[in-house]
Amino acid sequence: MIACLGRIVHDTDADSIPDDDVSTLSESLDLQGTIESGGITGVAGKDFGGLYSVKPLALIKPSGTEDIARVVKAASQTSHLTVAARGNGHSINGQAMADGGFVIDMRSTEENHFKPLTIDGSHYIDVSGGALWEDVLKRCVSMFRLAPRSWTDYLSLTVGGTLSNAGVSGQAFRFGPQTSNVTELEVVTGKGEITVCSKTQNSELFFGALGGLGQLGIITRARVKLQPAPDMVRWIRVVYTEFEEFTRDAEFLVTQEEGESFDYVEGFVFSNSDDPINGWPSVPLDPDHEFNPAYIPQTASSVLYCLEVALHYRNSDRPSTVDTAVSRLLERLGFIQRLKFQLNVSYVEFLLRVKQVEEHAKANGNWDSPHPWLNIFISKSGIVDFDRTVFRKMLKDGVGGPMLIYPLLRSKWDSRTSVVLPEGEIFYIVALLRFVPKGPTVEKLVAQNHEIIKWCNKEGLDFKLYLPHYQSKEDWKRHFGNQWTRFVERKTSFDPMAILAPGQQIFKRTHIIKP
Ligand code: FAD
Repeated sequence: MIACLGRIVHDTDADSIPDDDVSTLSESLDLQGTIESGGITGVAGKDFGGLYSVKPLALIKPSGTEDIARVVKAASQTSHLTVAARGNGHSINGQAMADGGFVIDMRSTEENHFKPLTIDGSHYIDVSGGALWEDVLKRCVSMFRLAPRSWTDYLSLTVGGTLSNAGVSGQAFRFGPQTSNVTELEVVTGKGEITVCSKTQNSELFFGALGGLGQLGIITRARVKLQPAPDMVRWIRVVYTEFEEFTRDAEFLVTQEEGESFDYVEGFVFSNSDDPINGWPSVPLDPDHEFNPAYIPQTASSVLYCLEVALHYRNSDRPSTVDTAVSRLLERLGFIQRLKFQLNVSYVEFLLRVKQVEEHAKANGNWDSPHPWLNIFISKSGIVDFDRTVFRKMLKDGVGGPMLIYPLLRSKWDSRTSVVLPEGEIFYIVALLRFVPKGPTVEKLVAQNHEIIKWCNKEGLDFKLYLPHYQSKEDWKRHFGNQWTRFVERKTSFDPMAILAPGQQIFKRTHIIKP
């Protein structure tokens, strides 16, 4: 088998592996699933970011965990082949790519697990690492009236893909990120071993794989915590002119006990203009809502702030009960009273809200254009300065898409995982979701992202990139900070030859890892 792999890899260009070589490769790997030449399919060499493209050797559609283990083992017996798990390819900077290596299409395993469990009275679902969160949602709600507790804003992402990063949305202040909401994983390590791990069993692999950027293993199954699914959601947006008031209210809401706050808390910055994408029209939740700029105080600056919250309720709740609960929570907040928008939607509709944005963007061609996104976790200590310089000056006209900002609580994140965070209990996620690369070129937008990071460094802000992208080991070391040694030790234990997730550009394929 290895002789065959070696011949194909050395003698042919990944762009043009002849069909008979693909079938030889397929036979030698002895897979239940299928294998396609990487150059021909194209999809394995691209991602949502649209900034990078590479030519993998082959795209593998495994039928299950055994196939994945076989591919990793085969790669480990060569001197240079790498393996990238590809979730739904929604990375920005080529993180799920393998130049000249194997790309494993995890989506082909999406149906492999779907098993509800009750352990000590709590509900869980075992799902495939290749399942989309939107399918997990629909199936859990329709079959069991249960649902995971912590989400991402957009759900056409895979379970393994978000667990390899963190998985953050407006529920994370209460339940932590998605990495805090799984209790067991099945992982194929870089040695090709299939290992079940949890907090108590193979715990180094369990914690290491969570937020591990795909470096320690390929997550083939996850056990996700569930809660009773509400029927409905009151979805609300309120507007602020002052950043200090916006952050004070957002922080107040995320630090209250359950029952004393909303079930979802997010926020975004928008430009104080009539721009249809970046300005006032981006705030109303419904075409029937009107954003009347006459209500904006004259003192307002170049940007405004929107707090987005939601309250769960049941069909059996009386409308007046929901109204009272919402009023009781809103009356403690200092937003512009006449700039309040609300809508009742089903719980599933609420969680699938970004799907509509996707459909719209697909229709106007923006979905497939490049997305030079930037996601940062910034400590509360630096967020006022960040607003003053970055939002109010550098980005005052917007980024052609949402500029999210909302607080999270460090105590809801498990420090034993591989995720790295700024110091302090309260930190903010800032997400610049650039959509319309008309006007400034993509290079200019990427350069602006670098400028923002450079400014954060210059000002000494305590921050970490989320969905990080670095190209030098020094930068990665700085990113991991005092967690670098632990991360390298875990890499050495579980993927000693650095076969996995080469697109992250952290470790070079080798036989021995050098710290
Ligand atoms: P991929 O991009 O395919 O893979 C990401 C990384 O994980 C790669 O290194 C890959 O090799 C590795 N990987 C993939 N599958 C596995 C696996 N099974 N086991 C081990 N490693 C694996 N993130 C949030 O936290 N919150 C959000 O609200 C949010 N919204 C988003 C909205 C959109 C429109 C997009 C495009 C992205 C959003 N993201 C969000 C980012 C998202 O979490 C990342 O893109 C993430 O990488 C998941 O995408 P994916 O499943 O397509 O994984």
